[in-house]
Amino acid sequence: RRKWRRVLGVLADLEEGCSTPVGRLKQVVDAMAVEMHAGLASEGGSKLKMLLTFVDRLPYGSEKGTYYALDLGGTNFRVLRVQLGGQRSSIMEQHVEKQPIPQHLMSSTSEILFDFIASSLKEFVEREGDGSQTLLTRRRELGFTFSFPVKQTSVSSGILIKWTKLFYIPDMVGREVTECLEQAMSRKGLNMRVAVLVNDTVGTLALGHYHDADTVAAVIIGTGTNACYWERTDAIIKCQGLLTTTGGMVINMEWGNFWSSHLPRTSYDMDLDADSPNQNDQGFEKMISGMYLGEIVRRVLLRMSQESDIFGALPSKLSMPFILSTPMIAAMHEDDSPELTEVARILKDALEIPDVPLKVRKLVVKVCDVVTRRAARLAAAGIVGILKKIGRDGSGGITGGRTRSDVKIRRSVVAIEGGLYTSYTIFREYLHEALSEILGEDIARHVILKVTEDGSGIGAALLAAS
Ligand code: ADP
Repeated sequence: RRKWRRVLGVLADLEEGCSTPVGRLKQVVDAMAVEMHAGLASEGGSKLKMLLTFVDRLPYGSEKGTYYALDLGGTNFRVLRVQLGGQRSSIMEQHVEKQPIPQHLMSSTSEILFDFIASSLKEFVEREGDGSQTLLTRRRELGFTFSFPVKQTSVSSGILIKWTKLFYIPDMVGREVTECLEQAMSRKGLNMRVAVLVNDTVGTLALGHYHDADTVAAVIIGTGTNACYWERTDAIIKCQGLLTTTGGMVINMEWGNFWSSHLPRTSYDMDLDADSPNQNDQGFEKMISGMYLGEIVRRVLLRMSQESDIFGALPSKLSMPFILSTPMIAAMHEDDSPELTEVARILKDALEIPDVPLKVRKLVVKVCDVVTRRAARLAAAGIVGILKKIGRDGSGGITGGRTRSDVKIRRSVVAIEGGLYTSYTIFREYLHEALSEILGEDIARHVILKVTEDGSGIGAALLAAS
């Protein structure tokens, strides 16, 4: 009894620590908008890098021709070929090939990695053929999606700031990314030019905009999380005199690194950060993205099990970092069987904890709920932060004495991608719910989250075309 009460105490503390009432979410919204300003005002002005992309035109639908793209950033890389017909939304044909990146290449040398990629690309181009002789002699245009922090020097070039995720190739840090790829392509005898170098969020925004011209931002919520959006050049103060024909440019926020004292942080988050290889980095990402949610849940369950005997003797697997993945917590969370059989199965298979009583299974589901709900609501606050920054959250509606109801609220589309959002239904529902709470139903109705698929790669091909 007393032990169970202690477990409930741990749960209550967790709920308290993770609570995200709408008032707090609004503080996060404001903090996001403020940090965006700061990051645009000066280099290093914020934890938000607010990187220039030099993408100053988004595809409209009039693009024509055959373009290639290469998407490198996660555990897989993709090569794509897109044939564009020149009418809005008419991608005539697209072919995507996905390949895992051999683990040893992720910590090799830039030459080894890019030779491998160039070879795969060459095989793809040759295997595909393209039915057109002219293309054999013409130099092909490639959109390169490279989803790591890059300091762009032009729309097609940039310097790698640091590796993230599972990659670690020291010789590449500080080098021109495009040069590395182009040199490898020429070593392999592939006649191709990198027309654009972008990250996955920018590709997603490009594809979103291709389909719907009201698309103003793109968000990725998968293994990691990031966002980009369309900004007016005169708001990019750190780059004075920046001129583009459109008067705007896409800004890659690198929002995973956002931080604010208003974020609801628990001891589990602090411990997770302290044990991570990138301490004090990617604070927002560590609360939100798929790489971490399962791990936060594991830490809570471990604490509960240390405080009591809910799982019997302390299960050794429960002490192993990252043993509980986010898809596993999603499966437990979405288990709607009366006996919670899926929860029992996962606890047994993944953590080797058999025969967990129903009462404890319910508790596990509750922990998944608290952690996921916080993540989804914070992601929603981040999105509203962007909308606020560009005056699309409805708050700037009162001008010249007119009341808000007189003002036509513009439709704003946010392109969204990533396994956490697309595959975890409860996460998605919590995110939408929070969006409505923060904005109010009337304004939320004009904010549309639109899932794009393979946008990170296809979008890069579209940008190469435009
Ligand atoms: P990546 O971000 O690695 O490029 P994705 O966008 O497909 O690729 O995201 C994959 C991530 O999404 C996984 O690492 C996992 O955290 C999360 N994810 C995938 N499927 C699910 C699921 N069913 N439930 C919850 N999270 C999931």
